Amino acid sequence: MSQKIFIAGQWREGRGDMTESRYPVDGSLNVQFRAASLEDVDEAIEAADAAWRGEWSERLPHQRAEVLYRVSRLIEEQLDELAELQSRDNGKPLAETRALVASAAGTARYVAAACETLEGELPTQRSPEFMTLSTWEPLGVIAAITPWNSPIASEMQKIAPALAGGNAVILKPAEATPLAALKLAELFEQAGLPAGLLSVLPGRGRVIGEAIVKHPKVRKISFTGGTTTGRHLAHIAADKLIGASLELGGKSPTIVCEDADIEQAVKGICYGIFSSGGQACIAGSRLFVHRSQYETVLARLVKITQGLRVGDPRTPGTHMGPLISTAHRDSVAAYVDQARAEGARILTGGCAPEDPALSKGSYYLPTIIDGLPADSRVCQEEIFGPVLVVLPYENEADLLAQANDSVFGLAAGIWTKDYRNAFKLARKLEVGTVWINTYKKFSISTPFGGYKESGLGREKGRLGIQAYMQQKSLYLGLEHTPMGWSD
Ligand code: NAD
Repeated sequence: MSQKIFIAGQWREGRGDMTESRYPVDGSLNVQFRAASLEDVDEAIEAADAAWRGEWSERLPHQRAEVLYRVSRLIEEQLDELAELQSRDNGKPLAETRALVASAAGTARYVAAACETLEGELPTQRSPEFMTLSTWEPLGVIAAITPWNSPIASEMQKIAPALAGGNAVILKPAEATPLAALKLAELFEQAGLPAGLLSVLPGRGRVIGEAIVKHPKVRKISFTGGTTTGRHLAHIAADKLIGASLELGGKSPTIVCEDADIEQAVKGICYGIFSSGGQACIAGSRLFVHRSQYETVLARLVKITQGLRVGDPRTPGTHMGPLISTAHRDSVAAYVDQARAEGARILTGGCAPEDPALSKGSYYLPTIIDGLPADSRVCQEEIFGPVLVVLPYENEADLLAQANDSVFGLAAGIWTKDYRNAFKLARKLEVGTVWINTYKKFSISTPFGGYKESGLGREKGRLGIQAYMQQKSLYLGLEHTPMGWSD
């Protein structure tokens, strides 16, 4: 049976090109189906525009919230199935995809609660002639465009606040990972979301994604993905004079201070870079170690990294599955080969695993490199794979000069026993999130987003819904006499 897509509240075959998703473990076909066409885009957006203008935006907040609470419960009930689907699409270990599914359920629940308690404002009243108040109104149709690395979690981070704000959503998932997004649409339908408010349109970014964001009835772009695509979408948003929230790439520094608990730091660093096979925007991919601890940290790091289990994502205890595709694995390998040619030391990894059982999958070993300057290509560009570059630093000034020498500014990690020092250092790092003695931990109530070329805007937190709304100010005259000309 061919996979249907969700257009304007109906499940049917897309009218676009054939598309497919493959299992990165062995390259086998998960599903092949027809993607959305340009006509499907039009139809979905027209229906979305009618749907948010209908009773949805008039519903009381707790009634909109109820749909999100139901979705959250449905996700939890089907956690294993959703985790399996996502792992089939992108090869992540099941333990990780389970956590991502649980995070999607948590997001829906949190946003539902925030939606019920969202308030307007009564600005300070300064005039006896009138009073003012300010309400939050929906924007309209939102284009949500997502990458392949954490689909269900990043999709819910867009859909839930947009719907809570009274909008409609057109979701275009990444080419490689359509399955979880389509399943999510099924759950929203089961939860009673009115038809047309959500469409899921798989297809090529340059064709279908672009047609969605350029459509005149789309009033905001909410994008997670690479910086090059993000910049392109920002130009489109500028032309249309609409908002764009952009969650983009990173090359995040992790810092080991002189006084750090080395054992704790090293385990955190390994998790920070090698979980998800390094295919995470927040991967701690540049490591700065105080010169006095450099060799000790490296020796321990290499030892722990060599103990990581690379293999089948379904096997309990697997730390790293395959990368998303062989093309991506080759791009990661090319970065490492270039570093090798430039004289880097490859301290561990630097190739695909030799185990014949893994030969069909797009696997690559966790890799640690040092010996290159901070301005070399592997130290500057986002590799988006299991590659850690290590650099020594002498003092705080040297550290900040190197750590902030990046076009990116998504996140950073600091390992130290001195919280006063950590606090001061954190304030000087040009990044949107700093983890101190922990890494890659998330709270839905804490805003997330990048500095510099890592993005624009923030997701999550209580203000997350307002990112999908606009303020309207009302003036209420208080006088009974006819208005005079003001002077
Ligand atoms: P990508 O930019 O290639 O694609 C992301 C999405 O954009 C896909 O759905 C794609 O089809 C679509 N797209 C591509 N071109 C388009 C166009 N012209 N118009 C509209 N849509 C278009 O990124 P990717 O390779 O899927 O994901 C990896 C990137 O995502 C990395 O750079 C990573 O750092 C970033 N990322 C960022 C965050 C964050 O929160 N900051 C989270 C996850 C991933």
